[in-house]
Amino acid sequence: MSILRRNSLDIQSNRATSLSPSLLLPLPHRSGSRRWRLVFGLVLSSGIGLLAYRRHSLSKGGAAGAIVTGTTIFGMGGWSWGLALIYFFTSSTLLSHFREKEKAATAADKFSKGSRRDLAQVAANGGLASLFAAFSGVITAKPLQETLQAGFVGALATATADTWATEVGVLSPHRPRLLTTLQPVAPGTSGGITPLGSTASALGALTLGLIFRASKGFHKPLTTLPLLALLSGMAGSLFDSLLGATLQAMYFCPTCQCETERRTHTCGTTTQPLRGLSWCNNDVVNFFATFAGSFMAIVLYWLLACFSLLKKKRVSDSR
Ligand SMILES: [Zn+2]
Repeated sequence: MSILRRNSLDIQSNRATSLSPSLLLPLPHRSGSRRWRLVFGLVLSSGIGLLAYRRHSLSKGGAAGAIVTGTTIFGMGGWSWGLALIYFFTSSTLLSHFREKEKAATAADKFSKGSRRDLAQVAANGGLASLFAAFSGVITAKPLQETLQAGFVGALATATADTWATEVGVLSPHRPRLLTTLQPVAPGTSGGITPLGSTASALGALTLGLIFRASKGFHKPLTTLPLLALLSGMAGSLFDSLLGATLQAMYFCPTCQCETERRTHTCGTTTQPLRGLSWCNNDVVNFFATFAGSFMAIVLYWLLACFSLLKKKRVSDSR
């Protein structure tokens, strides 16, 4: 991972030979220049943001957030980072439209927001990943670069795992059980888990890791990335459920006799506080979950790095 060093080399060579083929034909994967990536990221995320806004997948604020997130991750992180973001975004959007009518009733009843994602939701899912990308664009030391990369993978794997779990888990034929007490709860309840939702969450995290790994080419020793994504995504997603079952603000509708995340229920009744902290909504929970996923990924990365160092030392000592 020496994106910055490669970038500065590219920029230098572009300056030296102003009519170099790479400048005339700026192939994205050839010219790794950060400038091109920023432009490409801006154009692509504007296109995707606008399309998602038109298709009612994003609100205006959500589209603006997606453009900032996309440009930062493409421009400062790199192509693989951008591709991972696109994978998270398109898979989540497609899944939220999957059997949408069946999910609509649960979503309206339980969730504080509809399927149209707003700025807070985009920031909660992609904010930390963008931050890792921004730092990776200005830091050159290899161990730090790889640490930031692990943090990015952990954050995005968690966001993917969690979104897949929610969108697929709601369709589960089994009644969800609350993570903390294992008591059966209504579908869509925060902190409720189902075998289907957990499987979807694992698949989401693992495929994100595989996509990120594959996009880096197979000449680099990065075999641990998919495993890192799977474990950190699952950990972050479980942490999300744990917070959802404990600290997340939940309300009770006295008219319908049911739990909801809404302060005003769909029936029009003002709901009563049931449990959790009033400021701890779904977005806050999602943000902390990506934080937990990143933390897990960074710890795993360093454990693996120390392990391989020890192994190398043992081999050289035995010689
Ligand atoms: Zn009600």
